[in-house]
Amino acid sequence: MALKALDIFKLLPKTNCKKCGCPTCLAFAMKLAQKQASLDQCPDVSEASKNELAGASAPPIRLVAIGAGAGKLEIGNETVMFRHEESFYHAPGIGVLVSDTLDAAALQTRVERIRKLKFVRVGIELRANVVAVVNASGQAAPFAAAVQAVSALELPMVLMSSQAAHLDAVLAKCADKKPLLHAATAETADAFIALAKKHNCPLSVSAPDLDAAIPVIEKIRAGGVQDIVLDVTTPSVSGTLQALTKVRRLALKKNMRVLGYPCLVTNRTTDPLANAAECSMYTAKYAGIVLTELDQPEQLMPIMTVAQNLYTDPRKPIQVEAKLNAIGAVTPESPLLITTNFSLTYYTVAGEVEASRVPAYIGVLDTEGTSVLTAFASDKLTSEKIAAFLNSDEVKSKISHRKVIIPGYIAVMSGGLKDDSGWTVLVGPREASGISKFLKTTWANA
Ligand code: SF4
Repeated sequence: MALKALDIFKLLPKTNCKKCGCPTCLAFAMKLAQKQASLDQCPDVSEASKNELAGASAPPIRLVAIGAGAGKLEIGNETVMFRHEESFYHAPGIGVLVSDTLDAAALQTRVERIRKLKFVRVGIELRANVVAVVNASGQAAPFAAAVQAVSALELPMVLMSSQAAHLDAVLAKCADKKPLLHAATAETADAFIALAKKHNCPLSVSAPDLDAAIPVIEKIRAGGVQDIVLDVTTPSVSGTLQALTKVRRLALKKNMRVLGYPCLVTNRTTDPLANAAECSMYTAKYAGIVLTELDQPEQLMPIMTVAQNLYTDPRKPIQVEAKLNAIGAVTPESPLLITTNFSLTYYTVAGEVEASRVPAYIGVLDTEGTSVLTAFASDKLTSEKIAAFLNSDEVKSKISHRKVIIPGYIAVMSGGLKDDSGWTVLVGPREASGISKFLKTTWANA
């Protein structure tokens, strides 16, 4: 919770010496509260005050990094309960559980399936961005073999074993990858704290419920490990959802620092549809890591789509570049369709044009990332703007005809656009799904 200026003022030296550039300590405190100054501008502030201020200004949910280098996964540091209040910032890790009970062939198959979990949606690559190795065998050797096989994926790892010795053995080879160690319990906390400190790795906590987790978290923090992830998985879907929500609410609304950490959930539901639905819900409701038994593209894609949709800034729609795009082997006689630079709109239109197998140009207008109707209603997609695009050098140099296809939703603009541009205006379908038929019939006979 942010400190108020008067709270900060109480921690300053109150000498009004002006070394910080402010006329008084109170003025400096007000700047600090508004984040317009930094505490190190005051040379005389005591260490105790520094620590208190740093603690008070720390994010309510700690940012925890799993993995190393460019591919590391950062989770936590969220500031709101609902995306529309501001934004969600750190998309969860979504990944697959790999048991060390798989035989060598099955293990390799699992690894290759995970490697192929990549999709491009609205121009952005989505992929499994974390992987967990489960020491289900309870043996050291199979666990080490599974960790070695999974390491080849170069993904942030969660190493799951109740045996600190098994983890210690594999960390000798992979500690530099900064895997998440899973999981310290009330019984094993001491050994896991030592392990996390020895290898400088983040540590997760597992307990029957949140009340039982709190003393374990306190012990870990007191032991010198600060990068903590809470495993809040319960035997029931509703229990897990409640735990996820409680942690977020208590951390943000009650400033309960002991629960101010990202959460992890595992889902071993065997029904693929139920599993995907549950994982999607956990993704929507605050999980920092979602681990599932699923490893098929059609099962993971819905979960990743939920994450992509939620973890974008609602104030900044995803946009594509406004320009003339060619789909297929276009010629100067190819049709020209007009759309907006809202990613979802563009890629829907582009996908339908591609599926039609009719080479075509798509003219993308800058509408500040809004869809066709929204852009039209807010005067971001006007006949003057489209006319200017149609008569630009970019279009004239590539297209020899003067016929443009506009979205059906802005049919009312056709007369004005014809007058403004001098082009023949064809009113296309309202929905992108009608593009293929339109190009093969209306356009072909135009
Ligand atoms: S430098 Fe520190 S003590 Fe001096 S006026 Fe600024 S805040 Fe006050």
